[in-house]
Amino acid sequence: MLGNIHEIYYSVSGEGISQGIPTVFVRFAGCSLRCGKTEDRKLWCDTAYALGPNQGKSISISEIFKEIQALDPKSSAQILLTGGEPLEGKNGEHTDTICRTLFHERSESNHPYPAPRIETNGKETLSLDADRVFTMDYKLPGSGMEEKMNLENFEILKKRHNSLDEIKFVVRDRYDFQRSLEILHEKKPNTNILYSPVHDELDAKELVDWIKIENPPKARLSLQIHKVLWGNKKGV
Ligand code: SF4
Repeated sequence: MLGNIHEIYYSVSGEGISQGIPTVFVRFAGCSLRCGKTEDRKLWCDTAYALGPNQGKSISISEIFKEIQALDPKSSAQILLTGGEPLEGKNGEHTDTICRTLFHERSESNHPYPAPRIETNGKETLSLDADRVFTMDYKLPGSGMEEKMNLENFEILKKRHNSLDEIKFVVRDRYDFQRSLEILHEKKPNTNILYSPVHDELDAKELVDWIKIENPPKARLSLQIHKVLWGNKKGV
């Protein structure tokens, strides 16, 4: 079986509740969304280099495991499956295989991060499987992608009862923030909530002010530390 992989590298997790944890990133190529691209605004996706399905190379699943092992010989790191979109089309099948295999191996050795983390765009359907944890985006109106969101995912997240799952809102402006509050009020998720400002468009301090006032349950600010440490670079 072949995976459509853009890059595999070792760094620290840049955001969310796993921020700072040594992490091997497996980045799939291909995503059908185009976040930020509205009539008068540009794409804001920071992995535009991995959006097309042809922006990856076909490598076997055993090769993926070999690369992970070479980067992290002690097998102690968290594994993050990201993109592009790791659940879209064939990528989803490879993601399933990676999660099942690694979870099986790691559960037997009391690994601190037995389940790989999947960063997903909110369009693809999540699963109830315990062999993975999710960081699910909910795309707000400023992304131009809200109509693509799969609302059934909120029910799936509730049924999963996994304290490591998280929902991420990337906020472009006050209107986006208000919309996130409406969604939280309507769906009442019981998982971690991340708020991130659109880079170079919304001042994080302004977002902090809004979060402090509204303070939705389990909400936190999430800034991308890899950008603080290395700027807008690839593979870090
Ligand atoms: S879902 Fe993620 S990868 Fe796809 S366009 Fe949006 S930000 Fe980029």
